[in-house]
Amino acid sequence: MITKRLVLSFPPPLIDQPVTFELVRKYNLKINILRARITPREQGRLVVEVTGSKKDMDAGLKFLDEMKVEVKALALDVKFHDERCIECSACTSVCPSGALSVQRPEMRVSFNHEKCIACELCIPVCPFNVMEIVF
Ligand code: SF4
Ligand code: SF4
Repeated sequence: MITKRLVLSFPPPLIDQPVTFELVRKYNLKINILRARITPREQGRLVVEVTGSKKDMDAGLKFLDEMKVEVKALALDVKFHDERCIECSACTSVCPSGALSVQRPEMRVSFNHEKCIACELCIPVCPFNVMEIVF
């Protein structure tokens, strides 16, 4: 089994089509939607975690290519500069994945890179730029 984090961009004609459903049904892939957005130009964008065998993954990606869905690897990465953190915990309340959390009983704010979905919600919240998006 392999897992990929991908950004899928859907052109307007495909926005209401069950493309991800087809990935599950026809290609036996497990899809975890991390983020979904429709842009002002009505282009749909999904950040997904896709899991399956290499054969199914290759077939599913070929299907997306044929459907004219743009597929890019999730290239964003997030760094936690803990030396700047004052443990105010403001970021933990906006983090949707639990990547930022308060460790008890020490009450220290910690970052779990494995749980981070690069949603960027913590960036504007932190007054000390502890979180950095790396492209
Ligand atoms: S980018 Fe920030 S808010 Fe989003 S999941 Fe990662 S740590 Fe949490
Ligand atoms: S908002 Fe910034 S300073 Fe406050 S706990 Fe989070 S990372 Fe640390």
